[in-house]
Amino acid sequence: MDYASILQEIQQESNGFPTKGNVTLTIPELAKVSPNKFGIHLTTIEGGDFGIGDSNEKFSIQSISKALTVALAFSFLDEKIWERVGVEPSGTAFNSLVQLEHEKGIPRNPFINAGAIVIADMLVSCLKNPKDDFLAYIRLISGSPTIEYNLDVAQSEKDTRFRNAALANFLKSFGNIENDVDVVLDFYFHQCSIEMTCNELAHSFYFFANEGKTKEGKQILTQSQVKRLNALMQTCGFYDESGEFTYKVGLPGKSGIGGGIVALFPKVFVVATWSPKLNMKGNSELGMHALELLTNKTGMSIF
Ligand code: GLN
Repeated sequence: MDYASILQEIQQESNGFPTKGNVTLTIPELAKVSPNKFGIHLTTIEGGDFGIGDSNEKFSIQSISKALTVALAFSFLDEKIWERVGVEPSGTAFNSLVQLEHEKGIPRNPFINAGAIVIADMLVSCLKNPKDDFLAYIRLISGSPTIEYNLDVAQSEKDTRFRNAALANFLKSFGNIENDVDVVLDFYFHQCSIEMTCNELAHSFYFFANEGKTKEGKQILTQSQVKRLNALMQTCGFYDESGEFTYKVGLPGKSGIGGGIVALFPKVFVVATWSPKLNMKGNSELGMHALELLTNKTGMSIF
C-alpha cells in the first residue's frame, strides 16, 4: 500500500473542503490556536511512518487522553472498572449532565466527561504521584520522553471549570468519586492538557493496534483488554457522533476538542489527524473527512 501517495492525495483533496466550524471556545487558551492547521501521521505496525502537513506540531490532545487514562486504569483494576462506569454509547454531548441523574451517578461510558472524571478518580486512588506517574506512562507508551502537560491550558480549563465541576460534584453526591473533587478535577484538567504531535499520538496508540504491545515491545494490556477498549472507542469514541464516524470511517478512534483524532486498524496501522475547526458535536470536521478519504482510498476499514 502506497500510504505516502495516499496521504498526499488526501491533503490535496482536503484543501477545498468547506469547513463551517470553528476552534473550540470552551477553553480560552485553546481559542488562540490557528484554525487552519492540518496534519496527518500514519504509522504501520510493520514500522512505516508517513506524515503530511503540520504532523510534527504539538497540539492539545484533550479528550483523546481519556482512552489512555482508561487503559492505565484497566491495567490496575481490570473488569472492576465497569462497576463504576458503563460501556454503552451515550447519545448525548460529551459534557452533558442529563443522563447522570437517571442513571444514579454511573456514567454511560469512560469517554464522556462524567465517565472520564470517574476514571481520573480511580487513577488518583491507584497512583502514588498521579500527575507524574501518568505522564511517565504516556512517555513510556509513546516512546517519546519529551511529552509534557501544557500548564496554561490546564489552568485555563480550571478557570472555566463550571460544567466539569458540576459533573464531579454530582458524581460525588452519588458516592462515585472517592477522592477530593478538586484533586480529581486537577488531575483531569492536566490529562486533557497533554500536548502531542500527530506523530507522537499515532505512536501512543500503537499498542491498541498491536495486541497490547508498544512499538518497543512492552506489553501494556492483554490482547483481550485491548479488544475491549477498541470496541469502546468504536461505539463511544465520538460521543453523539460515534455512529456517524463508524458509518463514514469504519475504524475505532477517539477525538478531542483540540481538533485531534486518532484511529486505528488492528494489526495494520494507527493514524492521527489534527485540524482545530470543530463541528457541532465537538469533533474535527476536516479530520473526520480526511479519515473517511483514507478508508475509502485504502479500502481498509474493519467492516
Ligand atoms: N477538557 C475538555 C472538557 O473537559 C475535553 C473535552 C473534549 O475534548 N471533548 O471539556
